[in-house]
Amino acid sequence: MVTKELEVWEGDTRRLSLDYQKMPYQHKFVIDVPQPVFLNALAEKLQNYPNATLIRGAAFDDVIEQEDRVVGVTYREGGETKSLFASAVIAADGRYSKVRDKAAVPYNKTPQDRDVIWCKIPIPEGWDKHKYYILLNGAQHVILLPSFPNEYRTGVNIPKGGFAALKKQGIESFYELVDEVNPELGAHMREHIDGWKDLHLLDIFTSKAPLWGKDGLVMIGDSAHTLTPLLGQGVNIAIQDAMTLAPMLAEKVLSSQPVDTAFIRQFQAERQPQVDFVTKMQQRQEKLLCTDSKGLLRARRAYYFILNRLRFMQHHILNQISYKRQRMLAAGKAV
Ligand SMILES: Cc1cc2nc3c(=O)[nH]c(=O)nc-3n(C[C@H](O)[C@H](O)[C@H](O)COP(=O)(O)OP(=O)(O)OC[C@H]3O[C@@H](n4cnc5c(N)ncnc54)[C@H](O)[C@@H]3O)c2cc1C
Repeated sequence: MVTKELEVWEGDTRRLSLDYQKMPYQHKFVIDVPQPVFLNALAEKLQNYPNATLIRGAAFDDVIEQEDRVVGVTYREGGETKSLFASAVIAADGRYSKVRDKAAVPYNKTPQDRDVIWCKIPIPEGWDKHKYYILLNGAQHVILLPSFPNEYRTGVNIPKGGFAALKKQGIESFYELVDEVNPELGAHMREHIDGWKDLHLLDIFTSKAPLWGKDGLVMIGDSAHTLTPLLGQGVNIAIQDAMTLAPMLAEKVLSSQPVDTAFIRQFQAERQPQVDFVTKMQQRQEKLLCTDSKGLLRARRAYYFILNRLRFMQHHILNQISYKRQRMLAAGKAV
């Protein structure tokens, strides 16, 4: 699904419009690709490499270590446990990374002030299927992300750890949270959300490993640095990690050099600035989105007011997020 614009609304007032169509980039949109489609495209590409073997449907079990160096993994496939030895193991197994835990790579986890309830709803009539909406009312908000084929992936914030209490109050209390922000959307939810089975809790936290791996193991994506879902950057950043790592790793492995902590530091140094930029931006937004303090609400309006008018600020942000990949490609810093 193609997204051409991001809009922030407070009641009937549009506070911010980030219009990708007006940006000086080749691709004036963002695309949301479902994971199975993306994985199948990667699997198809892999067929061009006769030495590559793809094992699908297997579950990682444990790391194999020799003298505190990761030299392979064990995995479960068809009821059997099998071993695989490798010059480098890449952990790309997400926010609850078992590889990270089994290899005992330290990381810090920071809970955020809110959790989010996610659901999918058909795009209501008259709403734009190419716009990413953030709808605000005080500390309450609803995020709408256009999704294939004709849906919004929808996030509604609740206080941290508040899901069980909300469930106890009944489904009407969830609809009322949406009413607070946009009554039309609340009515749409009542029509299309048929109870708690259609709603999923997303525990919002960030995590950060001081070092993205250890000897023999490199972590990328959420296993190295879990972001909040604000502005939908997790997939973007994870893919850019992979794009940066691939050529660096190829050079290392092909020249039979060990994948050690010095290499991981070198890789991390390439990626950390962007991860830090997005993390800081998200932290600021997390604070501004969940506030009901009058001072911060004023600051929020002022921030959107300024950002809405200053195109160079919009460019600066988009250069770091949506367009970083194209800039990396242009600079020959990724494949
Ligand atoms: C509800 C929700 C909504 C989100 N919305 C957005 C969004 O709109 N935009 C955005 O950019 N980001 C979004 N994110 C964040 C985004 O999903 C992640 O940041 C991104 O997917 C991280 O990519 P990754 O490759 O590191 O991990 P993942 O995409 O989580 O991939 C990890 C993979 O590892 C596999 N795996 C895990 N454990 C094992 C095991 N033991 N054995 C074998 N395989 C295993 C999993 O099945 C999965 O396929 C959202 C996250 C959630 C939870």
